[in-house]
Amino acid sequence: MTKKNLLLACYELGHQPLSLAWPLAALSAAGLNSHAYDLSIDDFPTERAKEAQFVGIAVPMHTALRLGVEAANLVRQVNPNAHICFFGHYAWLNADYLLEILADSVIAGEYEAPLVGLIKAVNDAQDINAIVGVSTKTTRNIPHIERIEFQIPERTNLPSLDKYAHYNSNGNHELVAYVETSRGCLHTCNHCPIVPVYQGRFFIIPKEIVLADIRQQVAEGAKHISFGDPDFLNGPNHALKIIREMHAEYPEITFSFTTKVEHILEQKEIIKEFSTMGCSFIITACEATSEKILTRLDKGHTLPQIKEALQLLQNLGISPQPTWMPFTPWTSLADYIEFLAWVKEQELIPFIPAVQFAVRMLVPPGSALLNHPDVENWCGKLDQENFTYRWTHADPKMDELHQIISSIAAENQQENPYKVFKMIETETYKIAGKQLPIWNKPLQNIPSPPKMTENWFC
Ligand code: SF4
Repeated sequence: MTKKNLLLACYELGHQPLSLAWPLAALSAAGLNSHAYDLSIDDFPTERAKEAQFVGIAVPMHTALRLGVEAANLVRQVNPNAHICFFGHYAWLNADYLLEILADSVIAGEYEAPLVGLIKAVNDAQDINAIVGVSTKTTRNIPHIERIEFQIPERTNLPSLDKYAHYNSNGNHELVAYVETSRGCLHTCNHCPIVPVYQGRFFIIPKEIVLADIRQQVAEGAKHISFGDPDFLNGPNHALKIIREMHAEYPEITFSFTTKVEHILEQKEIIKEFSTMGCSFIITACEATSEKILTRLDKGHTLPQIKEALQLLQNLGISPQPTWMPFTPWTSLADYIEFLAWVKEQELIPFIPAVQFAVRMLVPPGSALLNHPDVENWCGKLDQENFTYRWTHADPKMDELHQIISSIAAENQQENPYKVFKMIETETYKIAGKQLPIWNKPLQNIPSPPKMTENWFC
C-alpha cells in the first residue's frame, strides 16, 4: 500500500520520540502505514511532504510546538493541500491559534484512537468533523481522555539510539532506552501543561507492553532505562512490578525516573528496593525554596520535605536531580539569593545543571495559573506566536537577572558546575548591590553524578 501519511516529531529532549513510536504502532494495528521522521535528527523530508495526504506533527512540549510550526510551514510550501494535524499537549493548549493559522486538525490526550480515525477519514476523503477527540476548523472536541488499547511502540524505522542523548556515569557513555509506564498525572500543580489536558487523570500502560518496549531497546544496545512518565510513582505498585521483572531479566541495567517530592517520602520502602535494583538517579521537581512560591504553585511539598527527600535518596546511594523554576512573577531577588544559599548549604551544586538556575515560568493558553483571582496583577497579553502569555516582573532587576543567568547557563553548559555556580552567585549579588558572603565551610568537590548528556526535565 502506498504510504500517503507522514508523521513528524521535532524535539523530545534528546530521546527517541515515543510520540512517533506510539502512533506508528496504532496505525500498524489498524492496517494503516506512515513514514515517520524525527526532525531533531533527520533532514526535513521534502519529497515525502510533497506527496503526503496527511501530515501529523507531534507537539508534546513548548519547543516542539515552535519547531513544529516551522515544519508545518515547510509542508504547506511544498504541498498546500496536505491535511496538517498537530497532536500532543501543546496542540490542545494552542488549538484556536493553530487552527486559525495553519492546522486542519488538533488532537490531544490519548491521541492514538482519534489519530487513526482521522487518518482513515482523510485517506478515504470522508468527513472529519465527527471524529471523537479531533478538533477541526469548524468543530471543537475536548482532549480524548479515554483508556485506549496500547500496542508495543513501533521503533523499527526511527533513528537508532546512538543518535540520541546518552547516560553518562563516571565518564562512560551508554545508550538509553526511553520508556513510559503511564500517561497523564494524578496531580494538578497549577503551572503544569499536563493539567489542562488530563485534569488529574492518568492511565497505566500494561506491564507486558512496557517490558516488551524495554526488551526491544536493550536488544538495540540500551544499557540505561529512562522512565519518562510525568510521575513514575503515580502507580507505585505498577512501577515496582515492572522494575522487579526488568531487574530479574537484566540485572546489569540501570534506570532513572521522575517523581514528586511527596512520592519520594510516601514510597520510602519502594525507593529503598529500587536502590538495590539499579536505580541511579531520580529527577524531582522541587521548583522553589520559598514556601510562598511552593504554596502558590500548589506543589504539595514544603522546603523541609524537599530537604528530607533529597537526603533520603543520597543515603540510599541514589543521585538526586532536583529541578527548579526560580523565575516567577512572585520570586523576589531576596528569594533568589536564598535559593542560591540553600543549594550551596545543601551541597547540591553538582546535581543541578546550570540551565535550572535560569528556568522562567511559562504560561501557556489554558494554564491553570490563569484561573487565580490575582491574575490581572501579574499576567500580560497572550503572545500567540510564541504560545505563551507574557509577564514581566514588578522588579525590573529580576528580568535583568534572568537575562544574565540565561546567558551564563547557555555559554557554560560543559563548564565545571562549581565555577558556573560562582558566576551565577557573583552576578546575582552584583545586581542586588550586595557583597558576596564569606563562605567559611569548604565546598566538597563532589564527583560528577550520573546524568544524561542532555538535560531532561519534569
Ligand atoms: S508538575 Fe509533575 S506532579 Fe505536578 S501535575 Fe505536572 S507532571 Fe504531575
